[in-house]
Amino acid sequence: MEYEPVIGLEVHAQLLTKTKIFCGCSAKFGSAPNNNTCPICLGMPGVLPVMNKKVVEYTIKMAVATHCRINKNNNFARKNYFYPDLPKGYQISQYAYPLAEGGYVDVEINGAKKRIGITRIHMEEDAGKLIHDENNPSSYVDLNRAGVPLIEIVSEPDMRSPEEGIGYLRRLHEILVYLEICDGNMEEGSFRCDANISLRPKGEDEFGIRTELKNMNSFRNVQRALQYEIKRQQYVLESGGKVIQETRLWDDSQGVTHSMRGKEEAHDYRYFPDPDLVPLMISEEWIKEVEKTLPELPLRKRERFVREYGIPPYDAGVLTASRDLADFYEKTVKYSGKPKIASNWIMGDVLGYLKEDKKEIKDSPVTPEALGDVINLIEDGTISGKIAKEVFEEVWKTGKDPKKVIEEKGLVQITDAGALETAIEEVLKSSPAQLEQYKQGKEKLFGYFVGQVMKATKGKANPKLVNEILRKKLSE
Ligand code: ADP
Ligand code: MG
Ligand code: ZN
Repeated sequence: MEYEPVIGLEVHAQLLTKTKIFCGCSAKFGSAPNNNTCPICLGMPGVLPVMNKKVVEYTIKMAVATHCRINKNNNFARKNYFYPDLPKGYQISQYAYPLAEGGYVDVEINGAKKRIGITRIHMEEDAGKLIHDENNPSSYVDLNRAGVPLIEIVSEPDMRSPEEGIGYLRRLHEILVYLEICDGNMEEGSFRCDANISLRPKGEDEFGIRTELKNMNSFRNVQRALQYEIKRQQYVLESGGKVIQETRLWDDSQGVTHSMRGKEEAHDYRYFPDPDLVPLMISEEWIKEVEKTLPELPLRKRERFVREYGIPPYDAGVLTASRDLADFYEKTVKYSGKPKIASNWIMGDVLGYLKEDKKEIKDSPVTPEALGDVINLIEDGTISGKIAKEVFEEVWKTGKDPKKVIEEKGLVQITDAGALETAIEEVLKSSPAQLEQYKQGKEKLFGYFVGQVMKATKGKANPKLVNEILRKKLSE
């Protein structure tokens, strides 16, 4: 029997606010353990949480960007459970009245567009972190993360393959980073994903029993965990068994999922409205105001790049991967007026050098102006395409002006026919054997002569002129 996977994802994104969600402590990652804490986020008795307005603003941004309905009346609920990283004994979250509901994102899978529904987006606080050390019998608790703001984005069970799942995740990630409300760092846990997956016979309408997968800290691991789980559930069903509803942990080193807890052990969180926080009312004006601050989102930008610059959709996809890269590209086009050539340079050389030097685009030693200059200098014949690569490398290393590099290194292209003629004559004179063979019909050797001339002129000869003069000389 053929089975179809059904996937729904729950994403937790850490918001990039300066302070925590209900107190003034820093929300920064990587401080010394327990440095960013106060009586509120430590859960001392008698303290009162106060809502961080930025958290609401950022969540509204995400809600607008993903076409959600925004609830004007919000409230917070306590999710009760006991764990040493949760000092209050409950997590403040949203339950019955989340900030946003009923949105979507469009994902492109192998050229086909697919719309993935978003069930809800709500705000909540993060818990602390337990630190276990193999060589030490004690465990430690670091509460710096306790109270750091999160949004949870819950999708509809709309995805039908691990590829669609990853496509959706990448879109969400891209939007969060474009909005500058999350740094998207999966390894540090600022972007985390739990994956729900079930199988059903192809053609069947009803969903099967799902499992929930946790502990994947990269896109690749989400994909691997889903692929593994499809095989596992298929095996269970084909051998006459039943999938049981449970939470499973992804084990990266073994490439498998292990059962963590079943439905029977599932928590009853006993949600109830938090009496310490007043209901949160969101006005229409505020939503409008936030809407105005939204940047151009990746999909829009991509479509505009194709339309405005006439570059292939593939190029547009690469160039809009981040706002900084897209800005770099647009500036380069402005300076050079050559959209496709600029795209080739950025996708090839700039991204290549950045990767090699482990640098971000905003730290590129070659500025868009400098790259624009290099392109212009090829276009007006000052340097050849080959020399341009040398110039680029030098500008990358030194940050010097391309014109200056060309001048200092004497890299200006030789377009003087007389000078080229002399160089060509010398090459022909010093290769009598090849010349003889050429005259006897071995025309392939033409390329050899061109190569020798380029070598003799250290690559500075204008290739087009060399070809012309050489052809003339050889037919004499
Ligand atoms: P919970 O509160 O247990 O996490 P939810 O109803 O909030 O449960 O659903 C969590 C996620 O599971 C959602 O993303 C939803 O799309 C997905 N989901 C629900 N049912 C299924 C199913 N049968 N197969 C796959 N995913 C599912
Ligand atoms: Mg869940
Ligand atoms: Zn605090």
